[in-house]
This record gives sequence, structure tokens and C-alpha cells, in this order.
Amino acid sequence: MRELLVVVLALTGCAADPPGESIVFDPCDRPTVALPEGTADQVASLDEALARWRDAGVDGPARDDAAPAPSVTVVFRDGAAANFGFYDAATATVYINTRLDPQQRAIVIAHELGHALGLFHVEAATRASVMNPGNTATPPNASDAAALAALWGACPAPDP
Ligand SMILES: [Zn+2]
Repeated sequence: MRELLVVVLALTGCAADPPGESIVFDPCDRPTVALPEGTADQVASLDEALARWRDAGVDGPARDDAAPAPSVTVVFRDGAAANFGFYDAATATVYINTRLDPQQRAIVIAHELGHALGLFHVEAATRASVMNPGNTATPPNASDAAALAALWGACPAPDP
């Protein structure tokens, strides 16, 4: 699995994310996403988040809870209501607030996975995006897929 270390000088996450090296993943490398200690509900939300990315045309990240070294690990934690989720770019860990309702949860996971794929926030005034700050309703869309393609290049067609 190829990892790209980039020095990012701007804020990348949903919280106070110190400038520094950020671990982000090329979706074309099919990064694995593990939720080792999730409830059935939480697993379903992760699957929905991945399905929403696929719906937008990004068939990259795949869930593999048994991966010995997953690219991204998802961890659910209790948190203040204002903290929906966070991508810790130093450890490639997505933290999700257990208090979110299931519908919000899938969107927040999709948003944090967007950070793991190297996307930054997009202001809602610029365009609707899964990467809108504080987003709990807008799924990944074609513009988000285009942003990934602009960042990483279009994925090669799979072998026949
Ligand atoms: Zn964010």
C-alpha cells in the first residue's frame, strides 16, 4: 500500500489540526478501512459511507476489519455534540462521535474519509460538498470525485 506523506501548511481536519505531516491515501490504491470494534449499526454506517462514495464514482476505499495493517482505522468515541468527527492525519485514524444518529453518522464518516483521501474543507457557499465544514447531510457528489481525480489523477481502468 502506497502512502503519501505530504506536508500540509493549512488545517486539514475538523478540529485544531496542527500543521505537519499528514497521512493521506490515493483512492486508486484501494486503501483498506477497518472498524475493529464497531457495533452492527456502526458497521452499517461505515458501509453506507463507502457506498455513498461509490455512488459518486469513487470506488476506492474498501472495508476490511481483519486487515493486519489497515490504511485507515475508524474508532467511535463519546464526544461533545459539536464534535461530529475528526481525522487524525498523524495516525490515519477516523474518530466518530457515538452520539450521532445513523443517518448523520454515514455522512460524517464519508466526510472524514474524504480527509483521509486528501480532501480539504469546501465552504458551503462555494459548492455543496461532502467536505462542507460541519456537514451531516450532503453525501459525496460528482464534484467531490472530480476533486479527488484532480488531486491523484484518474484511476486506471481495472484489468479485464
Ligand atoms: Zn472536516
